[in-house]
Amino acid sequence: MQETVIHFSDLALNSAILSALTDMGFEKPTPIQAASIPVLIEGRDALGKAQTGTGKTAAFSLPLLNKIDLSQRKPQAILMAPTRELAIQVAAEVKNLGRNIKGLKVLEIYGGASISDQIRALKSGAHIVVGTPGRVKDLINRERLHLDECHTFVLDEADEMLKMGFVDDVTWIMEKSPETAQRVLFSATMPPMVKTIVDRYLRNPARIDVAGTNQTVDKVEQQFWVVKGVEKDEAMSRLLETEDTDASIVFVRTRQDTERLADWLSARGFKAAALHGDIPQSLRERTVDHIKRGVIDILVATDVVARGLDVPRITHVFNYDIPFDVESYIHRIGRTGRAGRKGKAILLVRPNQIRMLRTIERVTRSSMEEIQLPHRDKVAESRLSKLAEELEAEKEHKALEKFSGLIEKLQTTLEIDAATLAAILLKRQQGKRPLFYVGEDPMLEAVERDKKRRSERRDTRETNNVDWETYQLQVGREQGVQVKDIVGALANELGLTKGSIGAIKLAPEHTFVQLPKSMSTETGNKLRKLRIRQKEVNAVVSDFNDFRESRGRRDGGGGNGGRRDGGNSRGNGNGGRGGNGRGNGERRFDRNRGGDHRGNHRGERVNKTRSAD
Ligand code: ADP
Ligand code: MG
Repeated sequence: MQETVIHFSDLALNSAILSALTDMGFEKPTPIQAASIPVLIEGRDALGKAQTGTGKTAAFSLPLLNKIDLSQRKPQAILMAPTRELAIQVAAEVKNLGRNIKGLKVLEIYGGASISDQIRALKSGAHIVVGTPGRVKDLINRERLHLDECHTFVLDEADEMLKMGFVDDVTWIMEKSPETAQRVLFSATMPPMVKTIVDRYLRNPARIDVAGTNQTVDKVEQQFWVVKGVEKDEAMSRLLETEDTDASIVFVRTRQDTERLADWLSARGFKAAALHGDIPQSLRERTVDHIKRGVIDILVATDVVARGLDVPRITHVFNYDIPFDVESYIHRIGRTGRAGRKGKAILLVRPNQIRMLRTIERVTRSSMEEIQLPHRDKVAESRLSKLAEELEAEKEHKALEKFSGLIEKLQTTLEIDAATLAAILLKRQQGKRPLFYVGEDPMLEAVERDKKRRSERRDTRETNNVDWETYQLQVGREQGVQVKDIVGALANELGLTKGSIGAIKLAPEHTFVQLPKSMSTETGNKLRKLRIRQKEVNAVVSDFNDFRESRGRRDGGGGNGGRRDGGNSRGNGNGGRGGNGRGNGERRFDRNRGGDHRGNHRGERVNKTRSAD
């Protein structure tokens, strides 16, 4: 990341703001702040794009705080956020930044909380309103919220807002604020819908884009574990016990899973709680507060509710379920590594999801390290050392003497020595978290199996190592030829097996195909006479070798663990897969996405739209 040389004091901010920044320990502006603050102070419409965790809130809040007129009682700025949590969080940051502006009133309004309280608060005057679209609209309709003195309109997390279906509400609210109001839109990504809004509603906006500096991903160490041997619950508990965590967020796909996993973890002694859209607002706020204060250490959450959460003590993000898209992944891992700290993200991935993992790596231009789960004994060891730590703290406890008396009594009753009694008590107190295990760890066996499978696969690849020759056939797409015709003809007419048909690339008027160098004379003769779709193919040897493009660009970036890079990648059985025209696992993957995953995802978001306000 490029270092900014400017300081907050270079930015024409007033002293109340500068002193607040000093109090808060903000030493210098982040890139998005350095770039947007001067533009926003000018009063221009603006579009800011930056990754999550880059300090966008202060970027849009500082300029508007800078021009608040305390004597004016109607709202001067309206900030829109997609969820209650974000509205609360943004309001908190604005209050913090405005802490030295005496008499400043910042009001958050959102659904699920008493509207009459909000009406009362509006009546007594608010300089800045932070709200979710539904409730804001409601209050405008009831003529309780007046935007006629509003000089700044901010749309935070615009992409998320529009994705959640708030587009009409948001534009309606924008139109209710004065023409002259400055319109500012912040977004982590620029999907077409955001572009449409920008084109329609922003007037000659300054475009500030620091998205290239992918801070989040750089700051977070990323690892993955391929599910094998034990299930994900067990994996989570092993990781949680052996990783050096402060607080963690565990992302799961469904609301039910948040509850189930949180219960499961709690039953094993972890301080965990669920967070999802169906939990009543007040409880959600309390849960967020609890993780901030250390009452709990683990939040098991769905994507939507955890969006934008800023809890500095989160050291780990666990992706219990792989996210639906790369964007969600970036948002998720952005929950750690906050405010310049280091964070760690661990993804639990099923073997059939590895492709998604590679896509994430490619898009984020980062790499994830494969890890193995700690073995059971390691877990037990770390339990023992934690226990020792806890006991150490109790050594000097005053009440111990009384307990010693009881121990003696129990010893006599049970007729056992102190060590045996201690053992019994220790066994009881550990419950489901034993300090040692008997028998083999199922993990070990799975790791062995996996190793064996991998080496077998390598062996088959080696025996399969065909030396290929590329032929150009003088038929192509324009003759209506498809890959399956080529494969069909080669198999039926030449008698070639799947394994001896390599990669195929169709062009408009010809086709390149890899066939074994060592073909029998007979097969060679048949090839010379081959006709496909009534056309002679006139096969000639060609030095074309760029088959990679032909099978979907997405595949090029390591989707196959790099097996396809370099010229010698042919002939390891991989070409055959492409050759029969259906080896594209990515197609299967897409279908999956469109089917169950996407479906759920959308469903959840739709529900969320309703419950968010
Ligand atoms: P974003 O909205 O881009 O995801 P936030 O505005 O939530 O990011 O900021 C992320 C964290 O960084 C917050 O804890 C915020 O207080 C902190 N932060 C913002 N600006 C600075 C700065 N200039 N110096 C230090 N910390 C900052
Ligand atoms: Mg934000």
